[in-house]
Amino acid sequence: MTLRVSVVLSQGQTVHPDRQALEAQLAARLAPHDQCDLLIVPHLYNLDSAGPSLAALRELSGDLIVLAWLYPRAAHWILDRHGVRGRRGRTAWDEDETAADETGDAGSGKGTESVAATRELPDRTIYCFDLRRHESPEPYLEAIRQIVPDLDRGDGGLDAGASPAVRRIDDQVRRRWYPVIDFSRCTNCMECIDFCLFGVYGVDEAENLLVELPDNCRKGCPACARVCPENAIMFPQHKTPAIAGGRQEPGGLKLDLSTLFGAAESLLSEQAIAARERDEHLLIAGQRPVGPADSASASDADETAKPQDQLDALMDQLDAMEL
Ligand code: SF4
Ligand code: SF4
Repeated sequence: MTLRVSVVLSQGQTVHPDRQALEAQLAARLAPHDQCDLLIVPHLYNLDSAGPSLAALRELSGDLIVLAWLYPRAAHWILDRHGVRGRRGRTAWDEDETAADETGDAGSGKGTESVAATRELPDRTIYCFDLRRHESPEPYLEAIRQIVPDLDRGDGGLDAGASPAVRRIDDQVRRRWYPVIDFSRCTNCMECIDFCLFGVYGVDEAENLLVELPDNCRKGCPACARVCPENAIMFPQHKTPAIAGGRQEPGGLKLDLSTLFGAAESLLSEQAIAARERDEHLLIAGQRPVGPADSASASDADETAKPQDQLDALMDQLDAMEL
């Protein structure tokens, strides 16, 4: 039996000539074939769940190949959030990330069952490729051939050079910023709900974590990603790969900052950085900062006085270094 596959090309967020050229070359080479459908949509992260692109994506059946300007893990879980679900296809390109998972750097390693382990998935595989890895179309076409060898046969195959009959959907999208959850890591501990003071998180009917009000998230705030014990929270547009869905470096940001500043480790923990980021966004929203105290005592100004002093001390130290 011949494998049928859909290829999704997720466009870049910005009008960048090099990126547009790569997208155009890929579209021209991925002409629809008996075994392949090509769908071009705006940037996956920005799509509206009720928009036409996601409606079209949900209609696709069978295996899926996704080419996006995103880390593959982020692309996979963005789709999952919108009901486009399947097994995550492993490719040779995932080598770094897989290695990180196997060494236990990816999460707490407590062995608690993930949310994904309790869910049933459709019998399909979703392969995601990061368009930032290569500047020419060839490596992507070669990777697709490894998944769907039949695409090189018959009219309109990868090497045919024929004019493509491409399905393109142009939703009106805007740039968004919200957390994306990797449910293969999330253990439903709910620490993110307790930490976030902007009402982004909730729970679904099965009492599993839900990013309920994504647009309540403060643009540029990645704080809860540092608090999650399983490194399950991604902000795909963050500049730090470990937060954006790339490889988790051993020790993460905590190690880097401690080395850089030579400051007391307790003041530079991920928790302290996350609390500072949350405070910054509370201030921007016109609300009172709460410091590193947990959200249960966040409204009690007396209880937060000491943690706030620590935060101020940290900021004073950083200011004094004149970095
Ligand atoms: S903190 Fe992390 S592991 Fe816990 S519920 Fe939130 S996303 Fe899941
Ligand atoms: S990044 Fe900040 S505002 Fe957004 S969900 Fe996390 S804690 Fe809430």
